[in-house]
Amino acid sequence: MEDLRKEIERRRTFAIISHPDAGKTTLTEKLLLYGGAIRLAGSVKSRKSKNYAVSDWMEIEKQRGISVTSSVMQFNYDGYCINILDTPGHQDFSEDTYRTLMAADSAVMVVDAAKGVEEQTRKLFNVCSLRNIPIFTIVNKMDREARDPFELMEEIERELGIKTYPMNWPIGSGKDFKGVYERSSNSIQVFSSGNHGQTTVNSVKGSVEDQVFVDLIGEDFHKQLKDDIELLDIAGDEFDMGAVLRGELSPVFFASALTNFGVEPFLKSFLELTSSPLPRKTSEGEEIDVMSDDFSAFVFKIQANMNPQHRDRIAFIRICSGKFVKGMEVNHYQGKGKVKLSQPQQFLAQDREMVEEAYAGDIIGVFDPGIYSIGDTLTSTNNKFRFEGIPAFAPEHFARVRPMDTMKRKQFVKGITQVAQEGAIQVYKELHIGMEEIIVGVVGTLQMDVLEFRLKNEYGVDLKVERLPFRFVRWMDQEDINLDDLDITSDTRLVKDLRDRNILLFQNEWGISWALSHNKGLTLTDVGKVD
Ligand code: GDP
Repeated sequence: MEDLRKEIERRRTFAIISHPDAGKTTLTEKLLLYGGAIRLAGSVKSRKSKNYAVSDWMEIEKQRGISVTSSVMQFNYDGYCINILDTPGHQDFSEDTYRTLMAADSAVMVVDAAKGVEEQTRKLFNVCSLRNIPIFTIVNKMDREARDPFELMEEIERELGIKTYPMNWPIGSGKDFKGVYERSSNSIQVFSSGNHGQTTVNSVKGSVEDQVFVDLIGEDFHKQLKDDIELLDIAGDEFDMGAVLRGELSPVFFASALTNFGVEPFLKSFLELTSSPLPRKTSEGEEIDVMSDDFSAFVFKIQANMNPQHRDRIAFIRICSGKFVKGMEVNHYQGKGKVKLSQPQQFLAQDREMVEEAYAGDIIGVFDPGIYSIGDTLTSTNNKFRFEGIPAFAPEHFARVRPMDTMKRKQFVKGITQVAQEGAIQVYKELHIGMEEIIVGVVGTLQMDVLEFRLKNEYGVDLKVERLPFRFVRWMDQEDINLDDLDITSDTRLVKDLRDRNILLFQNEWGISWALSHNKGLTLTDVGKVD
């Protein structure tokens, strides 16, 4: 019991969020470096160069130079057990990202010091703030020309609606970047880009009043710093731990991930301030105690064929309470009863390790013989519940898809179904000129490209894709409705989902109001409410 508590308390599970290019990958690597996971950071960089980042898996990522899947990495540091969830930065993959954020207990937001808050930062931030999880900010790339730090703080507060508390304060930027002043210790850390961030940085520390620092950073910067500190102390928000934990106040760190400057102080401070695994609620609103002896978890991501040599499929689960032991049998609420969690794995990017045990807060991948869907619950008890808030997102792009080669229908259906179970696409069936046809719906058009790519690479099926002009999907709630009597506009289409429920695809809002006003008793449900 004591051991269980200790193990869970030392866990920190967080996601790093940012607009592409702000430095998320670089930061992830430097964090892994401190965990001893990589000796020389940079050896695994970067997807824009010939070597791909540790967290990039799929072939398509290499081709496109973007990260399309989220991965998870675990390492130990200073007594903590850390799980980092990497999220794809490209906007078309927001769905996957949103779900990944459900598995995190806090978020680290990386902002480019020259660019400030960008579009994707805003979107991801909004998802995190819905859950009121602690959000930490790193203002990155201080070794480059940066915007005025006061202006950046103001922008974060104004654009994102969160208060900020700078934990440290930059002295100059770009060519003139001298280092940072750490507020809690009233000390200066001097920047030296000497080793290009290849190994852990040693920095000179000392009180801001020390003459040696005046000499190091120069009179002008020293004076400016003292003025800034005074202004921060008078005009800034107070540090309030409660507000941090409620996600109302973001501790801000100025750093330069590439040169490794400020990364370790951030990590230490972050680990201390951020939350250990947070309790999760069921859809009935009951809170599941993290420290309970009963194991519970939910599936938040399914990834097929991560390793082309193995043709496997892995369900990523977030453990919400208790302890997992290898080979454990659990109840799969949405499935057919008991399942044995086999081949449990944890990840250090490409390297997978078999897990003997894991605790609340951890994320493990288990072998999926095709039985799991996003949001499924696994428990060691017989209690049946669903965890709250796994978001489903409404597709906005639709296409009719067919195999080029009609002989490949079987592989086609298998591939489409699997990708749908992973939650990347939604699949609808329609009767079209006497044939059953498949329509897929996606949130971003890039997902359509990924579908084509994956069907070709993993299932050997070339797809014929015919884009359709629909924009909205609604489920019909009534089971006894006479479909022949349905009065809908000519550009509305009646289809079924994989569970044979009736669905209407609309091209515009007008079509929705028409259907509602011309069919007595018709009610339509949108995606978020469908189980
Ligand atoms: P991501 O798209 O957010 O994962 O960004 P990356 O980590 O791939 O970084 C984007 C680019 O910015 C890369 O060329 C990095 O080398 C560079 N970069 C990242 N952090 C820093 C930094 O602190 N200073 C400078 N000068 N460049 C950085």
